Amino acid sequence: MTIPIIKVQKLDKVFSNDDMLTHALQGIDLEIQQGEYISISGPSGCGKSTLLSIMGLLDFATTGKLFFEGVDVSNLTLEQTAAIRNKKIGFIFQQFNLIDELSVYDNIALPLRYAKQPISEEDINKKVDYCLDVVGIAPLARRRPTQLSGGQQQCVTIARALVADPAILLVDEPTGNLDSKSSDHVMAILEALNNQGTTLCVVTHDIDYAEMAKRKIYLLDGQVLGQTRLNHQ
Ligand code: ADP
Repeated sequence: MTIPIIKVQKLDKVFSNDDMLTHALQGIDLEIQQGEYISISGPSGCGKSTLLSIMGLLDFATTGKLFFEGVDVSNLTLEQTAAIRNKKIGFIFQQFNLIDELSVYDNIALPLRYAKQPISEEDINKKVDYCLDVVGIAPLARRRPTQLSGGQQQCVTIARALVADPAILLVDEPTGNLDSKSSDHVMAILEALNNQGTTLCVVTHDIDYAEMAKRKIYLLDGQVLGQTRLNHQ
């Protein structure tokens, strides 16, 4: 048995606001193995983003355990979780969160320039060029994000998420701001990345895009309603 990249055990999340408690997640058990392509789908408010945030060490569970590459990260400090998050996890969100004052190239290079271990400019160039090619936007490298279409901007965020060679990509509603043609293009890029070995966990409310994953998890009211897996992997 290989060690899963992410393992979640009996995970609960309760939000407490002004005397009101929201049980966003209840008793979630989930493992993500290296190389998998998982989708998490379900209706709005069922807990998809909350689960992704906790798995991405952006938020903490109320109770339950979270293991990252076999290490129990449930009780680490903020600094320790940030170190794992920056090194091991690539994020892609509905909002592109690109810096308009920087070129596409420099946006993608940013995680490497802020890496804890300094990386030579030559290595940064190699890695950025590789990621630009992988998502098919090399000719756009010198443009600013505002000079790109939404689909092209999402390709930049995919390249930025890949550049530090993360163990897993966590993706939250990647097509939420895109037209249908750009959405299909972005999902095709994600699928191609998985075919080349990238581990993917994609949150989507879009049933067709959820179906593209090789393992599909359905949430309802904070609980896993069921899962299906492609048998011809
Ligand atoms: P989904 O991503 O499936 O739309 P979310 O994970 O965003 O669902 O939300 C799950 C539940 O938790 C919802 O009832 C939502 O209103 C609630 N929730 C999410 N974030 C917060 C928060 N920061 N404070 C209070 N309630 C929250």
